[in-house]
Amino acid sequence: MNISEFTGYGDKMELLMRSVQAGRIVHALLFAGPRGSGKRTMAKLFARAMLCTGREPRPCGVCPACKRVLAGSHPDVRTLRPEKKTIGVDEIRDLIDYLALKPYEGGRHIAIIEQADKMTPPAQNALLKTLENPDGAAMFFLIAEDTGGLLPTIRSRCQTVRFRDLSVEDCAGVLVRRGIAPERAAALAGMAQGSVGRALELDADERFAALRGRVLQSLEALGDAASVSRAAALLEDDKGAEGDILDIMELWARDRMAVQAGAQPYQAGDRDRLGRGRIDGRALLKGVVEARKRLASNVAWPGVLENMYFDLINTENSGRTTLSWQR
Ligand SMILES: [Zn+2]
Repeated sequence: MNISEFTGYGDKMELLMRSVQAGRIVHALLFAGPRGSGKRTMAKLFARAMLCTGREPRPCGVCPACKRVLAGSHPDVRTLRPEKKTIGVDEIRDLIDYLALKPYEGGRHIAIIEQADKMTPPAQNALLKTLENPDGAAMFFLIAEDTGGLLPTIRSRCQTVRFRDLSVEDCAGVLVRRGIAPERAAALAGMAQGSVGRALELDADERFAALRGRVLQSLEALGDAASVSRAAALLEDDKGAEGDILDIMELWARDRMAVQAGAQPYQAGDRDRLGRGRIDGRALLKGVVEARKRLASNVAWPGVLENMYFDLINTENSGRTTLSWQR
């Protein structure tokens, strides 16, 4: 995605980008606006544009620098976000120490502070000193939904860019460019009322809910050895979702153990279904741990899954666990 494609903001951002690239005006930008309106995406886009080593128009999206910013692994970009409820003074001091080092490769540091309004007043004061005496090599992006939590002195040091939710049509357009089918994009944009971030969350939620449904179906389809390939077939095509599938199974295993022990499961709404399950929680948990190891050593997913299922069936057939819960 390029700045000109950032619907609704293209011109303004391009102007800002040019002045930043030319070293004019700003060392700190404050991106303010509602959740899901594109603040974070824009900050990353700026970071890429500044560190990109590829061809114009920048960011090119394909050079090593662009890829590393996208992956969150560029050594010259540091992102702070509240680990608990606030960002404390120690975290800001760490950031300032880091900024005092010479940039590795990009020629400049980029510091992104998410939920900047969650900085404690001492943290903001520590940051203020750096904002007042910029050394030229660092660029700050502060991101906040509610700028009321920021000290006026911080706000006055930043150039503020206001974000708003897009129109439903523009939002749908952004989703389509992100690879979502047009009808689905329109529906999601409508439900999210123009918030791209919310629409993407809804998309992920729906996918996740569908995936979870299939994981549970698959586990419940497990019976004898003949059932393994049928049960595994429900999940074998989910390339890229292996981690999610195993996470879903792990939670299911833990809850199954809880129910088997007469305790309250996390997924309380599924209590009955958990109670009816045939799979032993402990055996499933062991299977998940094994499966992660096999995946990490590059065994193909269908093989990992079938292996796990055969192990589970064998545990079942060894009798002890099955009997213990049928009592
Ligand atoms: Zn690039």
